[in-house]
Amino acid sequence: MADTSEIRSIFVTGLKNAHAMENQALSIMKPQVSRIENYPEVAARLEQHIRETEGQIKRLEDVLESLSENHSALKDMALSFTGGMAAMGHTAAGDEIIKNSLANFAFENYEIAAYKALITIAEHGGFPGPAPALKTNLDEEIAMAKWLDDNLKSVTMKFASLKEAGESAKI
Ligand code: MG
Ligand code: FE
Repeated sequence: MADTSEIRSIFVTGLKNAHAMENQALSIMKPQVSRIENYPEVAARLEQHIRETEGQIKRLEDVLESLSENHSALKDMALSFTGGMAAMGHTAAGDEIIKNSLANFAFENYEIAAYKALITIAEHGGFPGPAPALKTNLDEEIAMAKWLDDNLKSVTMKFASLKEAGESAKI
């Protein structure tokens, strides 16, 4: 791959899609945090990742700015991005915490794949400058996916015991 206008176009489109993806991540996580009562460790990790995601968005904007791409197009992309998984976070069913855990794990792995593809284009398409910022974002997604993986069992066990105790209405 060389730094051609085609590769540049692919890269910029990928960065804009990542920006939309991160805004979607915020719109999934923020309502979840506000509803959690019984799983403070999940709420705390989500709050941490919301802050990380805000940093990721800033990094993507800085990269796009370094490529001389303006921000007005970004907002349109963000608004037009719709993720099917997002709807899973808004159910009032008693197993909301489980559904959210599964959807969040899927979403983080989607983000991991997105950044791996972007880093490949950066490193092999002639845009080495943005690679470190993209790797920082990738590392945060890997850490979040690992946390969700590591905690799925304990969350599921807690959900089961709360349900046994008749507390299943609250998440
Ligand atoms: Mg992210
Ligand atoms: Fe993430």
